[in-house]
Amino acid sequence: MDAEIIAIGSELLLGATVDTNSAYLARQLAAAGVSLFRKSVVGDNAQRIAATIDESLSRADLVICTGGLGPTLDDVTREAVALAFGRELEFRQELMDQVAARFAAMGRPMSESNRRQAFVPAGARAIENPRGTAPSFIVEDERGTVIVLPGVPYEMRFLFESAVLPYLRDERGVTDVILVKTLHAVGLGESVIGERIADLMLASNPTVGISAKQARYELRIGARAAGRADAEALVAAAEATIRERLGANLTGDETLAETVARLLAERGQTLSLYEGTSAAPVYRALADTPGGLAHVRGAMIHPLDRPTDEHAAASLAHAGAISAADRWRSDLALAVQAASTPDDRGFTAVSVALCHPAGARQATRHYDLRQPEGWDFVGTLALDLLRRYLLGETE
Ligand code: AMP
Ligand code: MG
Repeated sequence: MDAEIIAIGSELLLGATVDTNSAYLARQLAAAGVSLFRKSVVGDNAQRIAATIDESLSRADLVICTGGLGPTLDDVTREAVALAFGRELEFRQELMDQVAARFAAMGRPMSESNRRQAFVPAGARAIENPRGTAPSFIVEDERGTVIVLPGVPYEMRFLFESAVLPYLRDERGVTDVILVKTLHAVGLGESVIGERIADLMLASNPTVGISAKQARYELRIGARAAGRADAEALVAAAEATIRERLGANLTGDETLAETVARLLAERGQTLSLYEGTSAAPVYRALADTPGGLAHVRGAMIHPLDRPTDEHAAASLAHAGAISAADRWRSDLALAVQAASTPDDRGFTAVSVALCHPAGARQATRHYDLRQPEGWDFVGTLALDLLRRYLLGETE
């Protein structure tokens, strides 16, 4: 079965609301083994929604819509679906009763406009919404099936899991499993990783895709099979190949910060930080990770020094690491220091230093720090220096 998703709402087109519903539905469909080929976003306009539904039905068997089911006149998804199916809207007393009962339970008067929510396209199967006032519905004809869900994320999720999944499984025979596993890698460029696993990336089952995020990489393995065990076996085989090809650059199931936090705990080592920037990329990466600060003794955020060039930045990073270790009495210290001015191409020299009981390790690279995300690359470089030390890799 091929599916498409249509997210409906002018606020999505304006960028005021992020379309998280489509991402959720996409993950759910993948897990249920339904192939998703397209997602669309359309504003609250009945003609355009109807045209989008027509178009999706010309390609896919199943179309899932979310949004535009509220009581107010700007929510027109019901009308649009009726239009796309050439049917009238029909009043369903049982839906009205359910909405009325919900208001009664809340001890609030129901407005006249809530009556709109008791209408569905003629012949549609209505799905009651015990979490809100917007009932869902399913409409079918010879072209395919349209399932309409509310836009409020928790109502949409609830109805998808309690009504749509059972419908797909029990009435549409959706039994394939698609399993997705994410692995993390660092320390290589995206193109290098892509070249090492090119054959896997061209295969169709399992599929392997890479997404890059500030020098950290997520490799997604997706496998499709008739049962979970078969899908797991496909994933495991691809994972083994990736491990072999990427070696120590793969942090596996863990992110870089999670690996560092685990290694510090396992080795019984404490860490302190010196960051010559208020962006504090290392501190932030660890703070964003559950348990990431458990073995961190303290951090000095010291953005006021102005090292003029790469060499001055490197000595300051080295001195910073030593002073942080000394101040916080930690086994290890990691320091980050950028030169104060970028070169004429906009790149700034950044030095990271790791001080450990037997000496120090250091790396200097050039980054574009005009975007705040640039600092994330620095955090990655510093944490990877520490990770490799903790793994016992020699320089
Ligand atoms: P609606 O069903 O269009 O009345 O949507 C109700 C609320 O749900 C909106 O105000 C949005 O905040 C939210 N919403 C609607 N569509 C989405 C979506 N695709 N992703 C995330 N939130 C949404
Ligand atoms: Mg809306």
